This record gives sequence, C-alpha cells and structure tokens, in this order.
Amino acid sequence: MIKQFSIGVISPILIILTLLASCSFKTSQVSAEEESLLLYPGGDFYPVTEFNHNFLNETPKNVVLFIGDGMGLTQIHAAMIANGGSLFLNNFRHIGFTTTHSYSSFVTGSAEAATAIASGVKTYGGAIGVDPDTNAVKTILHKAIEKGLSTGLISTSAITHATPAAFIAHQPDRKMYEEIAGDFLKYEIDLLIGGGLRHFGERSDGQNLLLKLNDKGYQIYHKLYEIAAAKSGKLVGLTADEHNGRVDQRGYVLPVATESALNILSENEKGFFVMIEGSQIDWAGHENNIVYLIEEMLDFDKAIGRALEFAEMNKETLIIVASDHETGGMTIHDGCYKAGMVKANFATPKHTGVLVPIFAYGPGAHLFTGFMDNTDIHNVIEELLFRLD
Ligand SMILES: [Zn+2]
Repeated sequence: MIKQFSIGVISPILIILTLLASCSFKTSQVSAEEESLLLYPGGDFYPVTEFNHNFLNETPKNVVLFIGDGMGLTQIHAAMIANGGSLFLNNFRHIGFTTTHSYSSFVTGSAEAATAIASGVKTYGGAIGVDPDTNAVKTILHKAIEKGLSTGLISTSAITHATPAAFIAHQPDRKMYEEIAGDFLKYEIDLLIGGGLRHFGERSDGQNLLLKLNDKGYQIYHKLYEIAAAKSGKLVGLTADEHNGRVDQRGYVLPVATESALNILSENEKGFFVMIEGSQIDWAGHENNIVYLIEEMLDFDKAIGRALEFAEMNKETLIIVASDHETGGMTIHDGCYKAGMVKANFATPKHTGVLVPIFAYGPGAHLFTGFMDNTDIHNVIEELLFRLD
C-alpha cells in the first residue's frame, strides 16, 4: 500500500493559501539572523511508503543499526512536521527510550556513547572502543566478524570520527584520527563509506593506507556514482578529504551508500551487521540551526527508507534506529503540518542528558521497547544474532 503526499505538486500559490488558511505565524522577538536559524519555512515533501511486517523467523540474520547523532524526540518531530506529518520512521511499531550517561559523566559525548552502544561497556569521555582503564573492548562488529558475518560502517562525517570509529578501533582519545584509521586495517571489515580520506592517504607518518587497503582487496572509490554502481566485493568509499558537506554539497550519499551496502553485504549467507550514522544532526544541534537540522533528519530518514525497502523484501533483517544523545535541548514552539513549517528553539549549544528514543523493525524488534540503557543495545543485538551458539 502506497501513501502518497500530493502537496509537493500543488502550485506555490496554493501552498501559500493553504498555509495562510491553516497556520498562523506569530510575530517574533528574535532578529532576522536568529529567525533564519530558528525557522524552517517548509520545503518539498517526499512520499512515504508503508511497509509490511511479515518476517521469516523470530530472530534476525542481519542487523542494520542506524545512529542519529544528537537525535532526540524533538529533532524527529521537527522532521516529521517538515515532511507533512509522515516519515519512513513512522513504519516502526516498536519504540523505546534509552538512557545515555557515560562512565564519567551524566551528559555523554559521542565517542563514549558509541563505545557503550557497540560494546555494552560504559567508559570515559573521548574513549574509542576502550574501557575506563583503556583496555580494548570487543564490539558487536568484532563479534560479527568472528562469526563469519559481513560487516560495514557508513557515516556522513569522516569514517574515523567518533561514532563509526568506536565500532572498530581501540584508541584512548577520539582525536587520534590517524591511529584510528590504522585500526580499520586490523579487522576484516567488508565495507567502509564516509569521509576522512586524508587520514588514510595523507598521513604524518608518510604511510599510504589506501595502498594497503588495495593490497587487502578493497575496491576504493571517491565518487557517489561509483558507490551507487558497486554490486559486490569489499569496498572502501571515501567521499571527502575530511567530513562530507551538507546535503546540498554531498548529495544523497547516505541513502545511496545504505542501498549499496545492503545489497553487497547480503551476499553473505551467514548474515551481516552494519552501522549507519547520520552524523550531522548533531552538528546542526550544536549550531542551533533548524534548517540544517531538518535537512539532515530528512536525509537520515530517506536512508532508513532504503533499508526498509531491503528489509521488507529480505524478511530476515532487523533495523534499529537509535541515538547516542540529544544535542541542543531543542524544542518546537510553532509548526504547521500542511506547510511543513517548524519554529524551534534551543536551550544550549551542547549535548544534553535527556532520554533518547529507539525504534526497531523486523525480527526481534519487540526487544527494543520500554526503558533501556545504551549498553542494552549491544546486549540485545548480541543475544539476537548469536544466542544459538
Ligand atoms: Zn556533538
């Protein structure tokens, strides 16, 4: 069953009339510059498909873990309003909340939150895949490799940035980008797509890790169309020297990379694990910029849509959409579903310690409901993927 929103093809005049008829803009006390950051006037809507919930078994063969960095409930609601009231995320029926505190502080950073989600171990600020004593911890990605599953990491930031790094690398500090890049070669991961080219190719130690990746049999791509065309084999896609730009610069790298990754990784009969990060939701939160934030949220939701298309056909794939923490203490003080207009405000340019939502679709999805800790995400995935051993 397809649910199409037709407002995108209505003339702009009609949209304005509809807007005037249904929503009132209140006069604001803020400056024009602040207004431009705090008002999303509405944009094109995309159609959202409804997916069925028919799965083969009670446990999944494949796990797709989306992490919206800095994504709280308000960020999701803002995106929902901006798309006329519906997101691909609306297909998810199993919803819970996770606590996010780290070993060292109530308000977490992304490195230690990703380490907790990936390994089930809480640690200190800035830690990448290490415990409070800087000992390496085994993550769900390492465990998947050991069991013969295919694995992948995708991010809109540098692939060496905190969230993807914590799933594979072991370093005492998140800023050790070159050491983190080196750790990527120590494990037989199948697919990496993100920015961070220079941490592999233009290093202070003079090593060229791209040559080493090539020797290990990876296809190395730098263009979105090359990633879109990739059909099989081990793949490293480094699409930016450091971080990818905003959506208008980077294009549909996240949805395209998601689709290519799922097609490639699903060639493995034993299954796969992939983590896909919407990194810049967090950066938009730090900037207190609602336009940037909604662009990032909608791009992230489109990637979730590609994964739902795959999972509906595949019937053995669990999709989890999680968050590491909320950023910005965001609130919505006006909005309009018909126009896609959102007025927001922020309490801080920093992370906050509020509960963040978690969503699941597929076999085992019911285990991601109620109140959980971020470490439970690792524990439940491990139970679902490997409990038959
Ligand atoms: Zn942040």
